[in-house]
Amino acid sequence: MSEYDYDLFVIGGGSGGVRAARLAAGLGKKVAIAEEYRFGGTCVIRGCVPKKLFVYASQFSEHFEDAGGYGWTVGESRFDWPALIANKDREIERLEGLYQHGLENAGAEIIASRAELTGPNSVRIKSTGRVVTAERILIAVGGKPNPHASLPGHELCISSNEAFHLEALPKAVVIAGGGYIAVEFANIFHGMGVDTTLIYRGQEILSRFDIDMRRGLHQAMEQKGIRILCHEVFAKIERGADGRLLAHTSTGKALVADQVMLALGRNPNTAGLGLEAAGVKTGQKGEILVDEYSRTNVESIYAVGDVTNRVELTPVAIHEAMCLIETLYKDNPTSPDHDLIATAVFSQPEIGTVGLSEDAAAKAYDELEIYRAEFRPMKATLSGRQEKTIMKLIVNAEDRKVIGAHILGHDAGEMAQILGIALKAGCTKDDFDRTMAVHPTASEELVTMYQPSYRLKGGERV
Ligand code: NDP
Repeated sequence: MSEYDYDLFVIGGGSGGVRAARLAAGLGKKVAIAEEYRFGGTCVIRGCVPKKLFVYASQFSEHFEDAGGYGWTVGESRFDWPALIANKDREIERLEGLYQHGLENAGAEIIASRAELTGPNSVRIKSTGRVVTAERILIAVGGKPNPHASLPGHELCISSNEAFHLEALPKAVVIAGGGYIAVEFANIFHGMGVDTTLIYRGQEILSRFDIDMRRGLHQAMEQKGIRILCHEVFAKIERGADGRLLAHTSTGKALVADQVMLALGRNPNTAGLGLEAAGVKTGQKGEILVDEYSRTNVESIYAVGDVTNRVELTPVAIHEAMCLIETLYKDNPTSPDHDLIATAVFSQPEIGTVGLSEDAAAKAYDELEIYRAEFRPMKATLSGRQEKTIMKLIVNAEDRKVIGAHILGHDAGEMAQILGIALKAGCTKDDFDRTMAVHPTASEELVTMYQPSYRLKGGERV
């Protein structure tokens, strides 16, 4: 009989926590998982899943426009925001139920309450005040939007959390930020007919991505009618006499909007978690510091997912949880592999990417071959839509390995997943060249770019 109430106590019912709890319980461990809000976490409840549903909703306006070139006459169309919200909520509820059933079927105890650490092996369940003990504790509480508390009027702004539940679709929105969330929501709102402005502090949106993707998307968004103001930040937000919001910028612009959205990164959700009581060390952003096996400085306490501020992506949190279970309960020490993570920005057009950008590769490698194709996608021919697809492969000239692959265009996210396998397998450009094209597709371009578009040596074009 163990001296503890549980073998594993998980705090946080998001992607990472649920996976760890389910797997551990499935192995016969005595597991409890506490969640203060809704099972599913950021991804299912207020992130990836509802976002993608919104992306689909927002794409119909262009589908209707494009249909004409293909012979269709589409009748008058009208967008019903409350209908979308209700349908989305139903789907999220279904998924939340699936998460809970998965836990129950595996034998984990579900605790619908906030839980806080009281020591290296103990946790207080907030709703009842009960303190329970566990041999091991896993913290998987995720993150929350950066509120930008120093901005006067920040309390008038929304984050992505509220964007999923707005009572009415705004007529005009201003979004601050140039990352995933800002860019995705700018396209979503625009597609739903909202007058949309994006303001970003840097020179070009999506600072961590390949420059061709960044410029290409910027151009495509502006062509659609999304206003993008770079080198610009908010100075103050206030509510006007007419009830609308006024967003004053650092260069003296005053932008009128019904909603102002901040998408300025996310912070680890560690405040008030009892980390001090347990002696768990945190970093500058409040993130929980862990070693290569997701263990904190306290031997019995572990952390996975966004709360560790390693790579803030759902599949990464799930992977970290699976590695932890291997390490703790299968006698198979496994560190999460954070190398070559494929990812997508669900902008319109999408960006799909894996590996190094051209700039990052130029810093890491002596000599590169860059293969680049830019073309009008076939669907745009009859629809008459002015859009382009960009595909780019970054190749290390020394061993011909493809070290970066980047796509801007339809279904780029789907392609990035497959490219992720190729790059993870260490494929060379010659492997790409000897792969037969699938015709007619956009992705055939990836295996038919035979000559480099240009070369880089010591970071310079030659
Ligand atoms: P990101 O880190 O992607 O972007 C944050 C943006 O805010 C950057 O453009 C940054 O500028 C800017 N910024 C940060 N602080 C300030 C400030 N004080 N003033 C002005 N601008 C500021 O964060 P997001 O909030 O967009 O998303 C959070 C995370 O969620 C992402 O990093 C991603 O990992 C994940 N996510 C993934 C998605 C996907 O997989 N499709 C979708 C949505 C989110 P700068 O670039 O100059 O630093």
